[in-house]
Parts: sequence; C-alpha cells; structure tokens
Amino acid sequence: MKRREFLNSSLLAATASLTGLRAAYAVVGTGEVPDVAAVTGDGRAITLKGAEVREFAVAMRGAVLVAGDDGYDKARQVLNPSFDKHPALIAQPTGSADVQTAVRFARAHDLLVAVKCGGHSASGQSTCERGLQIDLSHMRGVRVDPKARRAWVEGGTLLGLVDHECMAHGLATPLGTVSHTGVGGLTLGGGFGRLARRFGLAIDNVESVDIVTADGQLRHASAQENQDLFWAVRGGGGNFGVVTTFEFRLHPMQREVIAGEIAFPFARAKDMLGMWAEYAATAPDELYIDPSLYLPPGGGSGVAYLEVCYSGPAKDAERALAPIRKLGTPSSDGIKTRDYVLVQRANDSSDNRTLGTYLTGGFIPRVPAALVSTIVDNFRGDPGRHTILFCQHCGGAAGRIPENATAFAQRDAVANMMAVAGWTMGAGDPAPHMQATREYWSKLEPFTRGFYINDLPREITARDISSNYRGNLPRLKSVKRQYDPTNLFRLNANVQLG
Ligand SMILES: Cc1cc2nc3c(=O)[nH]c(=O)nc-3n(C[C@H](O)[C@H](O)[C@H](O)COP(=O)(O)OP(=O)(O)OC[C@H]3O[C@@H](n4cnc5c(N)ncnc54)[C@H](O)[C@@H]3O)c2cc1C
Repeated sequence: MKRREFLNSSLLAATASLTGLRAAYAVVGTGEVPDVAAVTGDGRAITLKGAEVREFAVAMRGAVLVAGDDGYDKARQVLNPSFDKHPALIAQPTGSADVQTAVRFARAHDLLVAVKCGGHSASGQSTCERGLQIDLSHMRGVRVDPKARRAWVEGGTLLGLVDHECMAHGLATPLGTVSHTGVGGLTLGGGFGRLARRFGLAIDNVESVDIVTADGQLRHASAQENQDLFWAVRGGGGNFGVVTTFEFRLHPMQREVIAGEIAFPFARAKDMLGMWAEYAATAPDELYIDPSLYLPPGGGSGVAYLEVCYSGPAKDAERALAPIRKLGTPSSDGIKTRDYVLVQRANDSSDNRTLGTYLTGGFIPRVPAALVSTIVDNFRGDPGRHTILFCQHCGGAAGRIPENATAFAQRDAVANMMAVAGWTMGAGDPAPHMQATREYWSKLEPFTRGFYINDLPREITARDISSNYRGNLPRLKSVKRQYDPTNLFRLNANVQLG
C-alpha cells in the first residue's frame, strides 16, 4: 500500500449528491420549523428563527438540510474524517440562483460560511461547526466546445468528469492528480497536476469565471470584465465568492501517455532522490516526476518510488526517462503506455474515510544534496501510522508565468514537498502522529520558500498566510475590500483586511 491508496477516494462525496434532494421538504414541510442555533463568522452564537429558515428553504430549488435530515450526515462529511463538524444548515444549490439565495441568507445573518466542492481541503475548511455549509455537489457538469477548445465546468464538479468529457474530443486542460478532487478548490488555489509543466497550472487555463460575490450578485470575471476579480480568483482561493462556472481553455492531447510507478527498496532512497534533484528542473515540460517515500503502519519495510507521466511524443519517451533508467534495476516497474484518463483515475478505487490524515507542506525552489539527506535520514515510521513524504513536480510552463500575472505567487518552485501522516480513526490518539510529522517538517521547512494555499495545515497563522501571498497581497486586499468587505468567505487561505 502506498500513499495513493491511502489518500485516495471519496465515493461518499460522489454519492452524497444523490441523497439530499428530498430533504428540502424536511425543512419546508407543513410543520413548524424550529429555531436553529448557529454562529457568525467571528464566532458569536446566534439563533436563526424557524420562520426565516423556512423562508430560505422555500426560496431554494435545491435542499436546505438540518441535522437529522436525510443526506445531512453525508453532505457534512469531508474527505478527511478527522474533521467531524456539524453545520447549522447545509444548502445544496442546484445552480447560480440558489447560490445567490444562500449567500444572501448568510450575509443577512452574518453566518459563518463554508463552501464545499470536492471536500479535499487538508485542514477541513469546507465544513464548519454551526455555520452554513454551501455544498456544491448538485452542481456538477461539463460542457465542451471542441471547435472553440473551451470547457464550461460547474463549480461543484470533480476533476475526473472534466478529463473524461474533454478527452472524448482529444482535448485536455491541466488539473490535479486524483480524479475525485474538486475543480473548485483545486483551481482557485492554483492547480498542479501531471500536465502543469506542459500547459501551466489550472488557473493559467481559466478563461473566465461566473462567481457569486458576498453581496449575492452573480458576476462574470475575465480578462475583459471585472479584471481585478479575475486576477484574484486565480490563486487567491475561495476568498472572493462562490464560483458557479469555470471556463477552461483546452489543449489538443493524445489519449495515450507513458505513465506509472517505478519503485526501489528504501535503502536506495537517496540515489532516487539524488537523480530527481539533478533532473527535476531540467526535465522536458512533458515529463512529470513525483518522488515519494512511504512507510506503512505495523513496521513493514519502506519503499521509495517515482510516479511518472510523460505526455510528449512516444518516440522521445525513453530519452526523457533515461535518468530514471540509469538508477538500475527497480523493485517494480509499472511505467508503460496508458490511457491518460485512467491514469488520472488510478487512485479512485477505494474509500479511505476511516483514515484520518495530517498534511503539511511547502514549495522548494531547488533540491540541494542537504535536502535529500535531511528527507531520508529523518524519515521515521510508527506502528500506528502511514508515513509519507512526496514532492509534486512544478516548473516548466507553470514556472514561466510572472508572479504577479495571477494571485498565485510561488512560480519559482521546482516542487511542492509534502509530509503526511495517516491513522485509523478510533485506533488511539492521533496527536503523536501529527506531532511526529510537525517535528519531521521542522527539519525540512528551512529548505522551503512559501507553501501551497491548497495544502493549508491546521495550525497555520494569519501572518503566515499573508506573507505567503508575497507582493500580491496589497492587490488581493484591495479586491477583498471591494467584493467581500465583511469577510463572509473566511474559511480559506484568508486575505484579512486591517
Ligand atoms: C487526495 C488529494 C489529492 C490532491 N491532489 C492534488 C493535486 O494533484 N494537485 C493540486 O494542486 N492539489 C491537490 N490536492 C489539494 C487540493 O487542491 C485542495 O485540497 C483543494 O482545496 C481541493 O479542492 P476541493 O474542491 O476538493 O476541496 P473542498 O474541501 O471542497 O474546498 C476547499 C476550499 O476551496 C474553496 N472552494 C471550493 N470550491 C469552490 C467554489 N466553487 N467557489 C468558491 N470557493 C470554492 C473553499 O474555500 C473551500 O474551503 C489534493 C488533495 C487531496 C486530499
């Protein structure tokens, strides 16, 4: 079992969308709706009058769920089960009009708001305790215009649907590496994946968005319209509103890629990482190499492996892969010609919601030998946890875009390095696993420069977030002031005014 198997799958996220439909009637049915205890964005306890909740639910075409309704428990769940929160209300919009209604209701009551697309947030930002969760799982759909090479993707869609629909026309847009991740969260924070070195980040391929801002207005933002807002949503996360549609630029893309995992005994981890350290910055744009170290719980032997995807011309593949081949005989070699859409889906086979996780990470601008030694020499497992270190390959086309062209500031990274712990829920106190990961990370962090806002660890401070936006912070603040002056959208890498 490797990192993919344990980080993967949220079948529940996909099925949640089917179950909530009836529940609108639970709230709006003939009986009295009881008052609902809730909290404001800054944590003040409030009571939502039953009649107001009823009026809200009647105005929505989709469901409004309260605890006890069918679908409430599935909707409030996020991928990481160590976040077990109970929103006061869950709104399940079926389109932009419902999103507007939900945002206006939240604004009128100053409610704490969480926005959920794929539910993958590492720090559980897409659920909340006693606030309003806007669950976009009923807004999933993709329309492709092959001639114009554009795809319009609804704000609650998961990545796999986009890959599937686009590839039917021999087209692709670069998204992430796990197909049940949400397009919403992934794209707004940046969006790294197997094609990012070739075509740029997900945000670099966004042509426009439709977004419901904190005043409840539906706005279109593009290079021609609401330009500041368009700039800010590309890397500024969920700070500015709820995106109901993304318009992506598509690229011609062959269905077959050379991809898979090649593994080495853990004793060869330094050789493997040393090769990657030398090659990562100069590899062709079509090559994505993601090195990982993994130690299973229960004291099994560790493994070092590379996840590879080469999407260039097949005749050039072996030349691109030559530095990997020079590492010598692997313990297993799964690199072969594969269907790109299936590669993107390869990790979706099971539901791991019994595994709690803790993740922390940071961007590395280079991979000095000292980093390789620090990674390997300090990598320690524990009988009670999965222990993982991996580096998502950046650079290439994504690195050639100026830092101020979008709100995403870390264009200089060669990789996004992440340390992860996973534990079985209910099998003991997870605190030592999180602490061990923090201690490991304290040795690696000096090699990092900034972090990916989509990998916010739980203990991040407002100051860390602000400095991470680098020179883009003043413009982000000015857009935040214009579109969300009361910080309605705060469960994210929050741009704080003041
Ligand atoms: C298994 C796994 C694999 C991953 N792989 C990758 C990867 O390959 N590349 C990569 O770049 N990242 C990856 N990530 C990180 C991922 O980008 C973030 O976790 C991201 O937040 C997930 O988006 P989501 O919609 O699934 O999350 P959610 O938890 O649903 O949302 C996270 C946040 O995004 C915002 N948001 C979501 N949708 C909208 C919307 N429509 N409008 C406004 N705001 C919205 C909200 O602020 C919300 O709090 C991965 C994470 C996991 C757990």
